[in-house]
Amino acid sequence: MMNIYGITRSDLENFLLLIGDKKFRATQIFEWVYEKKVSSFSEMSNIKKNIQDKLADMFSFEKIKIKKKQEDKLTKKYLFELEDGNYVEAVLMEHDYGLSICVSSEVGCNMGCAFCESGRLKKVRDLKAHEMVQQILLVEEDIQKRISSVVIMGIGEPLDNYDNVMSFIKIINDAKGTAIGARHITLSTCGIIPKIRDLMAEELQINLAISLHAPNTQLRNKLMPINKAYPLKDLIEVIKEYIEKTNRRVTIEYIMLKDINDNETQAVELAALLKGMMVYVNLIPYNETNHIEFKRASKDKVMKFYDTLKKKGINVTIRKEFGSNIDAACGQLRSKEVWYENILFNWFR
Ligand code: SF4
Repeated sequence: MMNIYGITRSDLENFLLLIGDKKFRATQIFEWVYEKKVSSFSEMSNIKKNIQDKLADMFSFEKIKIKKKQEDKLTKKYLFELEDGNYVEAVLMEHDYGLSICVSSEVGCNMGCAFCESGRLKKVRDLKAHEMVQQILLVEEDIQKRISSVVIMGIGEPLDNYDNVMSFIKIINDAKGTAIGARHITLSTCGIIPKIRDLMAEELQINLAISLHAPNTQLRNKLMPINKAYPLKDLIEVIKEYIEKTNRRVTIEYIMLKDINDNETQAVELAALLKGMMVYVNLIPYNETNHIEFKRASKDKVMKFYDTLKKKGINVTIRKEFGSNIDAACGQLRSKEVWYENILFNWFR
């Protein structure tokens, strides 16, 4: 059985044609599901009973569950329990311009970035499109407000779960789905080059963010194993191609790690690497965790790094900090939960 929250409108149209109904019914179903928020086909009063029955045989309205919530003034972090007992998380952030959510795309992650809590927990499986869509729906239901932007930057590497992530984007971007504008959707990748090319071909108007975190290949090899498969030089080339093809500015994410990638020489090196490219660099304060030895760069170092990039003509911002006191670093809440479950498991064995 498929989950109704994971099907795109065009796939639903094809299904309706297959069962002898009309294409336009898909729009009606989307209105019931995403606007009127019903949770059964029998409530869809403008759909004939025999079609309702066929749909009910094929699709479920099964939902994931909010297992835990932590919050501070501007941030809420949600831990979700999936049908198979796995956990993922999402973080809701309140900005001047509205509410944004950072969603997970996989249970764990195989990319193994040295500074990342999620990478410590190997990938268990891909998330299905409905499990990503539901992170948004459940949080909206919880806060009784609409979320206006989405960042795919939680647990997982979205381009390692390409098809499900593309369906997810199509559903949330659909005017009859959650109607989040493409320019309010950001996909963040550690740099899987062939998949960036596939993404380019989709001609979506979404934002692309690249987790770079190092200005040269030696350091990037140490921090991000993906660099051995897809080296920095080739990654920069594909980013240039992406900008040329889409005419969209690309975000370069750079986590500031104390004594690792935060000195002035590295800022000069980064500026040279990105010179002339339509990018902006987002300097991210690191959220320290108990399990990983990296430390956050000092404010002074971050400011100097910022100034150097600015002077070299690079567009740069420092990311406003969210949730550092509620475990909002990528993967932290899930990681705690998994540890907790493991401890319980060991106690009761
Ligand atoms: S930073 Fe992203 S890609 Fe790297 S291990 Fe963490 S979740 Fe995976």
